[in-house]
Amino acid sequence: MNQPTSTPWPVVLTVAGFDPSAGAGIIADLKTFAAHNCYGVAAITALTVQNSQGVASVHPVDPAVLRASIRSLLSDGRVKAIKIGMLSNRAIAEVIGEILESNPDLQAVLDPVLRSSSDYGLLDASGLDYIRQQLISRVTVLTPNLAEAAALAGIPVDNVESMKAAARKLVEMGARAVVVTGGHLDKAIDVLFDGTTMESFAGDRVKPENTHGTGCTFSSAIAANLALGRQLRDAVVLAKAYVVEAIRQAFSTGPGRIPLNHLYRMSQPVRVTDHAPAAAEVTR
Ligand code: PLP
Repeated sequence: MNQPTSTPWPVVLTVAGFDPSAGAGIIADLKTFAAHNCYGVAAITALTVQNSQGVASVHPVDPAVLRASIRSLLSDGRVKAIKIGMLSNRAIAEVIGEILESNPDLQAVLDPVLRSSSDYGLLDASGLDYIRQQLISRVTVLTPNLAEAAALAGIPVDNVESMKAAARKLVEMGARAVVVTGGHLDKAIDVLFDGTTMESFAGDRVKPENTHGTGCTFSSAIAANLALGRQLRDAVVLAKAYVVEAIRQAFSTGPGRIPLNHLYRMSQPVRVTDHAPAAAEVTR
């Protein structure tokens, strides 16, 4: 067996879609884990064809391949937390249900992704039913945005009072804890309800407005903080602060939506002179 060479980072698994433009999905999740000193591993639920201007098509993977992939990663025995993102269809959602049922102690964050911000459907109707009936009760925390909270709770959600009502309803439906994210409100207010305490966290809306992958990043940052041993409330507070700063330091990578700068904490200059070999020999 290989000997470890440095302090290990907790392993965090993302199960989500592949966005080749790297603003959302698996790639955003892995960058977020890395930014939190977590080692990310990944199982892809669907390939998407997309760029900064939006999603063109979605290609779900074979559920048997996804099941094998997740089981293989979990059998290494090191995964401390799992983030679940875009599921695309019911068959894939059912694989997640099985995995959560056989790993009840795994900390799990479910981002119930329904549509892209470019308004492309990312989950079928039967998959949404399965999330409502089977998945929300099997995860540590659920992180719907306003539209997702409305679809899951079956009530309109467009202000802080209705966010609180939706969070209560989702807990009644079996969720252990819910964060309804209000990034689209005038003030970016998130509501956390753990079945006992209801708290809202206010934050100024930070420019730029047209961001891509915010929900994926927020849920991944919560998963990373849970893997690092933090309590849910602290994980949510830290995740919100991380997302706000990643938006503040975002830059455009194409003509469309702007991805978060997940790796803003890495902005250090690298100079060759700092890495010169001890004894260099130059031959001409
Ligand atoms: N593409 C993939 C693969 C995703 O997982 C998500 C996540 O929610 C999106 C697109 C949508 O991101 P956005 O809502 O920022 O467009």
